[in-house]
Amino acid sequence: MILNDLLGHILLRTEMMTAGSNAFTADEVAGWPEGTLDFFVWQRLLSPGTPAQQVVCDGCEEGCFMPVEVPPAETPLSTAPFIICNQRDDIGRVRVDPDRLKRWGVDPVLLSRLISKLLGLDQTPQELVRRRLWFLGRANLPGGSPEVFLARGLSWTDAGEIFGHNRDLRESSSPLIFAPGKSSNGFLPKATLVSLDRLLSIRKDQLALDLEAINRVIATKSKTESFTGNVFQKTGQFWTISYDGRTLRLKDSKGLQFLHFLLAHPGEEFHAQRLLAEVEGNASGHGDTSTTMERQFLNDGLNVSSLGDAGPVLDDQARKAYKQRLDDLAAELEEAREFNEYERAERFEGEMEALTKELAAAYGLGGRPRKLADPDEKARKTISKAIGRALKHIKENDENLWRHLQNALSLGLFPTYKPHPPVIWII
Ligand SMILES: [Zn+2]
Repeated sequence: MILNDLLGHILLRTEMMTAGSNAFTADEVAGWPEGTLDFFVWQRLLSPGTPAQQVVCDGCEEGCFMPVEVPPAETPLSTAPFIICNQRDDIGRVRVDPDRLKRWGVDPVLLSRLISKLLGLDQTPQELVRRRLWFLGRANLPGGSPEVFLARGLSWTDAGEIFGHNRDLRESSSPLIFAPGKSSNGFLPKATLVSLDRLLSIRKDQLALDLEAINRVIATKSKTESFTGNVFQKTGQFWTISYDGRTLRLKDSKGLQFLHFLLAHPGEEFHAQRLLAEVEGNASGHGDTSTTMERQFLNDGLNVSSLGDAGPVLDDQARKAYKQRLDDLAAELEEAREFNEYERAERFEGEMEALTKELAAAYGLGGRPRKLADPDEKARKTISKAIGRALKHIKENDENLWRHLQNALSLGLFPTYKPHPPVIWII
């Protein structure tokens, strides 16, 4: 519809940077359907502005664009404005109809009042930044009660400076910002940006705002925001884990404790022994590495007299435990391969390989027990194993969270949680 197309043009003009270029000239308006200009003026979207100072010459065929000379009012004979054509010598002064110099500008102040009226807000918009930002008030819409702003020039190079640092915008908890043109937003993460180009239209000879669409945008935004409240917290013997709108409760385990610690320190790398000490230290009230590792191994059914390189021997019971673990791993490996979980499979393979080496080292040559592998490797394995088990439980309950963790975790000698893009957890 032609009226709506023109409306789009008018809105885009509001976004023009230089004051002169946002006005419509009489020549432009002459091409509009009859009554259109009057309609927009009547709707207070356009208002008469300062006369044009240049105009296209209609005395020659070259379309030369020349400055307009306006004789002083007291000149006796000719008071009509004229241009001096520079394409043809023979015509000299070309008279210009004064009506052709008329211009109509888009006044953002009027636009802010219009939006305010259409939203049913009864206060006068407050200009926060000259010619750039207005506060219209708090709207009461079914989807929410956002604070409404009108911003001009959100795509200009100074937009980050002007809007990103504006206190009213920053302190608003849920700003809804109308922009005349298309807009993008990197500097106001909390804000909902809507382009008037899509929402303002002419219906039954009246300007109308698509309130339903605005509601949908607000509702979607508040839904998205509730999704970002990711939680990983322990109460009693259970962990409450909320991710992306889904909540699960899992019984406490070492693996979840490791996960909790890593999630609380996104992007940081911890040496496996340090991580072990941190988590064990928190759980038992002390953080002595070798002692906690020893207990971990005892928990796992591996009976060792002490740990570390100076350490020692595996007894039969320990050997059985190793064998059992190898069998478990083989089963898990098979399962992982079946489900194409390459990372998990790789982890199990690595663990099996290391266990086999240890067994060989402990009982291999000459059947004489040897030293255990170094403490680093043990800590790494303890953590991988525990987290692997926790991930398995998580997968059974929430595939989405499992996939996220699978992608964001790396469990080498320096376990770390590095989500891309960053995820906020309430820990
Ligand atoms: Zn000319």
